[in-house]
Amino acid sequence: MDAVLVVDQDRLTRHPRELEEFIIVADRLGVPLANVAGEVDLGSSDGRFRARIMGAVARQESEKKSERLKRQRDQQARMGLSTGGPRRFGYAQVRDAEGQATMSVIEDEAIRVREAADRFLAGESLRQIASDFNDGGISTVTGAPWKVTTLRTLLAGPHVAGLRVHRGEIIGEASWDAILERSTWEKIRAVLGDPRRSQSGRPAQYLLTGMLVCGRCGATLYSSRRKDGSRRYMCNRGANEGPCGRIAVVAEPVERTAATQLLVALAGPDLWAALEGVDHIESEPIARQLIADEASLEELAKDHYVERVISRREFLAARDLLEARISKNRAAFRPPPTNADPLTGLPRSYEALVSLWSDLDIERQRMILKSVVEEVVVHPGKPGRRLFDPDRVEMRWLV
Ligand SMILES: [Zn+2]
Repeated sequence: MDAVLVVDQDRLTRHPRELEEFIIVADRLGVPLANVAGEVDLGSSDGRFRARIMGAVARQESEKKSERLKRQRDQQARMGLSTGGPRRFGYAQVRDAEGQATMSVIEDEAIRVREAADRFLAGESLRQIASDFNDGGISTVTGAPWKVTTLRTLLAGPHVAGLRVHRGEIIGEASWDAILERSTWEKIRAVLGDPRRSQSGRPAQYLLTGMLVCGRCGATLYSSRRKDGSRRYMCNRGANEGPCGRIAVVAEPVERTAATQLLVALAGPDLWAALEGVDHIESEPIARQLIADEASLEELAKDHYVERVISRREFLAARDLLEARISKNRAAFRPPPTNADPLTGLPRSYEALVSLWSDLDIERQRMILKSVVEEVVVHPGKPGRRLFDPDRVEMRWLV
């Protein structure tokens, strides 16, 4: 590329970190940057300074904008207003007298919702009710046939009880009327269980499922429940020869020990330093090498096909070298952490971590654990010990 031309600098990037990367690349390749107001001289320290200031301003504006949107959504939720979008069975999306989004009950459909609720609570299956609805020519909002999941979502959804959900939580009364009595809806929820769980497949039930390894033979430990209700993790001999079958531990102290070790590590500086090290030491040179190699590859093709200054054989040899290194570096490249990183936003004090941990569901706890721990080894116990020995639990950290 000869130059980069943008309408405004914030069209190039709003992230100071990306700007710095751009400055490095532009500097290396001698590519000038210009916006409609004129050229930004990234070659001079004054020009870079100006670019960084503009970058910081753009970043602040975009953050302010997302804060404003978030506040607006929070406020709509507190007022119980509708989120808009496609209508739900039983309701039409309408505007109230003040022009705010809300929903009004469609009585013909509401009758069907109540009928489905009554039949379900009387013991009929969702499958049967869905099939009757389809036979009776009752249409869903999309026109697709009724399925178990459509009915389940409808009956367990808080909106039919006149409740407003915000960020996955019920925050109070909605501005629209309920179709089902609150008590009816709660009975349905109790029978169905949490609808989110049944839709996304069976989530792991325990913190360490699949992550525990036998300290004698290296086999994965299985969770098993005894008749008295206590849970154990055991090396399961089963049908194949591999597992030794000689380790069995009560689950709860192992889980407690592993969680404590994780939280202690998250509260200390070493783990975070190691995580940062992974990013900076490994990713940055790889990213730079990738950018440079891809540029060289283009240059090379130009030299061969356009300028005709190198032969086909020279071109192929150099191309193979570059392509091998590019594919190796692509595989090794770790993108910088994003908001999807389970560790983002965790508190750094042990007390705060402990209190947060007990509020998290198992899925989320497992995501945090798995982002820093490869596996957890359970070593054999010392003979004669009656209390659980925490030293039997060994964390194998990823960093
Ligand atoms: Zn074993």
